[in-house]
Amino acid sequence: MGTVSIGRTLPSGSRTTSSTGQSTHSKHLRPGGKEGGSVEEKKAIVFDIGRFRNTDGPGIRTILFFKGCPLRCLWCSNPFGFSPAPQLAVNPVKCTGCGKCVPVCPQGRNTLVPGEKIQVDFSACQGCGACVPVCPSGARMITGRAYTARELYREAAKDAAFYRKGGGGVTLSGGEVLLQWEVASETLRLCRTNYINTCIETSAFAPWAHLWQVAQYCHTVFVDLKHMDSEKHREQTGVPNELILENIQKLCQALPQRGGRVIVRLPLIPGCNDGAEDVAAAARFVGSLPNRPEMNLLPYHNLGESKYGMIGETCALSGLESRKGRDPKLLALQELCQRCAPDNRVSLGGDAIALE
Ligand code: SF4
Ligand code: SF4
Repeated sequence: MGTVSIGRTLPSGSRTTSSTGQSTHSKHLRPGGKEGGSVEEKKAIVFDIGRFRNTDGPGIRTILFFKGCPLRCLWCSNPFGFSPAPQLAVNPVKCTGCGKCVPVCPQGRNTLVPGEKIQVDFSACQGCGACVPVCPSGARMITGRAYTARELYREAAKDAAFYRKGGGGVTLSGGEVLLQWEVASETLRLCRTNYINTCIETSAFAPWAHLWQVAQYCHTVFVDLKHMDSEKHREQTGVPNELILENIQKLCQALPQRGGRVIVRLPLIPGCNDGAEDVAAAARFVGSLPNRPEMNLLPYHNLGESKYGMIGETCALSGLESRKGRDPKLLALQELCQRCAPDNRVSLGGDAIALE
């Protein structure tokens, strides 16, 4: 069977990240959205709106996935969130090899190899979208669209009837939502003003001022703790962990004073951070934090693996199997965490989040 050949849209070397969590991407939008203008006018790039989810917050959730991330976690399940800009994605399963996308590309990035499907050179694709409407099988799409905060609020408000029944609400995820902190903050403010429950998922790798500007409007902040060893953290995510640990500490101090809660999430990735010593170190850190945050252990899943090829990226953990939520090893790690952080609730699985 032919393949959709992959070039690299955003090689990790094209990203630079300062120790303060500021990230710069040469040909992309400035974090926070469009340059200049009031916050009402600014736009954020969002690559998906997930509805009726039962993870990442209490009740039924609408999840807004913001584009752009300063980290490159080896296990990332949302690679469409890497780049801050809208970009081309091609589904090789849908491609029939008709060749209609070849002549319309101004960059000449599509090549039809006889007897095979299309080959795409993502490295020079400008994401112009000219090839999308001509594709008869719907194999092509531009992932990422610009929204104002009010437009995002309206998207969330469409599901308000379901929130009222099940105690749900909106969760801002990504990518890293803090890269577009101004629009994110305003979206959450609008949701809070209209009595919608608000959560974010974040790496906390950002200036504290940006994190707090967003977190202050949250009922719940899910913050990832990926590794306590800064060098291993850098090897596995692309950035060190000092800023993250400092921000988690500040968040656990500040958010409960405003009635919000922090849930520290540990993604358990086989061979990366799921050793007993690594997990115990993370649990001891959580146990030392102010206001006893909940610790939520997330079993590894490989549901995002097929998305890498669609944007010309390679999954570093390709072939690694998902872990079942009731796996005895995971239950043993949950027990270990509970022993290391006896005053904190320790839950297992993304749907194990209780209502406040
Ligand atoms: S999005 Fe534009 S540049 Fe990229 S392959 Fe399609 S037509 Fe070419
Ligand atoms: S137009 Fe669509 S189906 Fe035809 S070769 Fe291009 S990607 Fe494949």
